[in-house]
Amino acid sequence: GAGLYGCPTTVNNVESIAVVPTILRRGPEWFSSFGRPNNAGTKIFGISGHVNNPCVVEEAMSISFEELIDKHCGGIRGGWDNLLAVIPGGSSVPCVRGENMRDAVMDFDALRDVGSSLGTAAVIVMDKQTDIIKAIWRLSKFYKHESCGQCTPCREGTGWMMRVMDRLVKGQAELEEIDMLFSVTKQVEGHTICALGDAAAWPIQGLIRNFREEIEDRIKAQKTGRMGAMAAE
Ligand code: SF4
Repeated sequence: GAGLYGCPTTVNNVESIAVVPTILRRGPEWFSSFGRPNNAGTKIFGISGHVNNPCVVEEAMSISFEELIDKHCGGIRGGWDNLLAVIPGGSSVPCVRGENMRDAVMDFDALRDVGSSLGTAAVIVMDKQTDIIKAIWRLSKFYKHESCGQCTPCREGTGWMMRVMDRLVKGQAELEEIDMLFSVTKQVEGHTICALGDAAAWPIQGLIRNFREEIEDRIKAQKTGRMGAMAAE
């Protein structure tokens, strides 16, 4: 085969290239001694959000989330009981509820088991002061903006999803729209040219799977508020 512009081409990220000299020097056995089987090696974690010291750090694969945060980030802002949710692998992967993350292990298999993915290992931590619906809405807005418009499910879907998310943030929606939104994410997922369609769908799926009650409560509170205002008239 031929690479880009007919020339030999290597497609690798900087993280992979950067670790090659060390693997050559110390040997593959050394490198694969880190992490669990099938998840070997080291990983560069970029930890942001509600930790005391956000940082970028190279660590052993399969380190526990708790150790990663306590050792390098000075813990969760307000303590572990204040942890609401974590996006463990960059903004495109589904969020995980805090209580399911504390014991989770940071590798490909373990994060799949909690309904998410290690992705890019860009870990976004959110404490209980976060409006989780608004946080995911912001990601929807980002993916809508980034959509290049080449394929219909992404071009139309990202806008559609963002507009429903706009209303969910305010609770101005019907309860049935939660399932409708979920089914739209399923129609976008896997039906686009590039991965941006999936990236737009997964955060919303994670929100609905993990925080449906919060979405419903906000809609119900809006309705009660409206009825109260009508009764007062
Ligand atoms: S999925 Fe990729 S190629 Fe298709 S419209 Fe979205 S950004 Fe463009």
